[in-house]
Amino acid sequence: MQLIGVYFVSSMKNSLTDNFTKDLKARAEMLSILTADKFGSETGTADEESAVESLRGMVNNLYINGAEIQVLDASGKIITTSIPSQNDYVGQRNTQTVVSRALQGISDNEEYIIADDNVRKKVVAKPVISGDKVVGAIYIAADMKDLYATMSRINSVFLSGLLLALALTAVLGVILAHTITHPIKEMTKHATAVAEGRFNRKVPVFGNDEIGQLSQAFNYMTDRLREALLQNEEEKEKLSSILANMSDGVVATDESGAVILMNTRAALMLGAEGPLPEGAPLGGLLGLDPEQTVSVTQGIAQSAMLHLSPLDGEDPNIVRVTFTPIHRREGGRVAGTIAVLQDVTEQENLEESRREFVANVSHELRTPLTTIKSYAEALDDGVLEDPQLAVRFVGVIRNETERMIRLVTDLLHLSRLDSKESSLRIQQTDISDMLEDVADRFSFQIRQKRIHISTRVRKDVATAWLDRDQIDQVLGNLVSNALKYTPEGGTIQLEAHKSEDGMLAVSVRDSGIGIPKKDIERIFERFYRVDKARSRNMGGTGLGLSIAREIVKAHGGSISLQSELNEGSLVTFTLPLMKQRGSEA
Ligand code: ADP
Repeated sequence: MQLIGVYFVSSMKNSLTDNFTKDLKARAEMLSILTADKFGSETGTADEESAVESLRGMVNNLYINGAEIQVLDASGKIITTSIPSQNDYVGQRNTQTVVSRALQGISDNEEYIIADDNVRKKVVAKPVISGDKVVGAIYIAADMKDLYATMSRINSVFLSGLLLALALTAVLGVILAHTITHPIKEMTKHATAVAEGRFNRKVPVFGNDEIGQLSQAFNYMTDRLREALLQNEEEKEKLSSILANMSDGVVATDESGAVILMNTRAALMLGAEGPLPEGAPLGGLLGLDPEQTVSVTQGIAQSAMLHLSPLDGEDPNIVRVTFTPIHRREGGRVAGTIAVLQDVTEQENLEESRREFVANVSHELRTPLTTIKSYAEALDDGVLEDPQLAVRFVGVIRNETERMIRLVTDLLHLSRLDSKESSLRIQQTDISDMLEDVADRFSFQIRQKRIHISTRVRKDVATAWLDRDQIDQVLGNLVSNALKYTPEGGTIQLEAHKSEDGMLAVSVRDSGIGIPKKDIERIFERFYRVDKARSRNMGGTGLGLSIAREIVKAHGGSISLQSELNEGSLVTFTLPLMKQRGSEA
């Protein structure tokens, strides 16, 4: 507006002054033509007077607002003037340049003057030509006050317009800035909230303009971000609950082998108490030597067996650790290792006992077989010729064969018990009847060894629900042991009573050689014998007590042995008195 204003005002001023000048010049021209014939009268004559009079009349008629019109003769003297107050100047010469130029015949004369009363005036002068001669001049000095007043009015209109426009612009500017900055401020606030994890608020959408679209996009972004974070969180929770509930231990490390994650099971296996020390080395945690640690972190070693004792004094757990390197997607570098810890103690122990069992069985079978072989060879080599010796040798062979049959029968029995093939045939059984029966079965040996046997059944345990055949076998094994390891003249007591926990407790007590303290713990193991040679001589297989234990266990009871060396032993087993739910009748 300012630029337009400046241009407009200056061209307005130019055109106004041009018009003004043109107007003045036209009037001067007209007057010069009109007055041309009024010159040339004789001085002092009536003609001259009438000519001056008519000139005055013309000048006065051609009144131009506030302008002074002078008619001058050829010498520059003022003949008449339009302003009465200037009448004194009549007869005097006007010596202004414009006038002298006009008197020289130049028609286009104009200039600006500042009058005595400090008013700018436009001055034009025109020669009056009669025939070919310049007979006088017309001089017009017009006041430019009105023109300047018009100009200043236009200026003030422009100025007030400008001020109004400025004020409006300022107001508009403030409103506009507010409409832009307010949503941006809101958005900044929300962005901060989102960064701090508060997703519940939404940026208000003020319109459909660019800011509105930005707000919408921001809200959409917030929603997506929240969804992504929730999903992430869910995944994490899933993973951590999987890790927490796994029966295997899991330890994850970074590329340097420092532990970054460990589940509860792994902590338990490794006996790590409390929070995991930040960046503990995996090698140290698992007790690997430096060489192993390096091969693990480089992804070379794949598994290791560890013997870890979770608490002091406890048997070490055997743990199989499987290492899986995590490869980076690009470059294939090892980014870390996952170690999965599996407690294989039970498995290993089973494996161990299986190996031991097979070794024991082989050994137990080899001994009689070797004997049989050597005796058969001896017979073959001529002992048959000696009938007496031959009979003895055949007797030994038969004995050994019987022992082998016993051994195999026992093994078969154990195997059936192990595989739970033989189901129990539970029936109500009279206890004293059962004990008497056992005593009767061994009466021949008892008498032979002059052993005193007694049975005693308390009243509270008259009958019980059990598999008579199986329990007979248990009692048979126990009584036969008692007989074997009790010297002549000893005593054996069979007793049945109700135990503290309401079970039937049957005990076989003897006054025999007893068992050393250190062996008692292992006496129920298969093939465990205190004195191998003696047991074998007695025809024992080393399986009697383990068979007894399996049978008692199958009934839901337990068996224990107390013994004092050279004083005797007491074997007690318990059985449920009542019929157990689920057992067969
Ligand atoms: P075996 O067939 O050799 O008797 P068992 O399993 O019945 O096998 O017994 C295991 C070992 O326990 C025997 O070899 C013997 O050393 C010891 N033993 C068992 N019962 C007695 C007992 N009453 N007195 C002393 N030692 C016994």
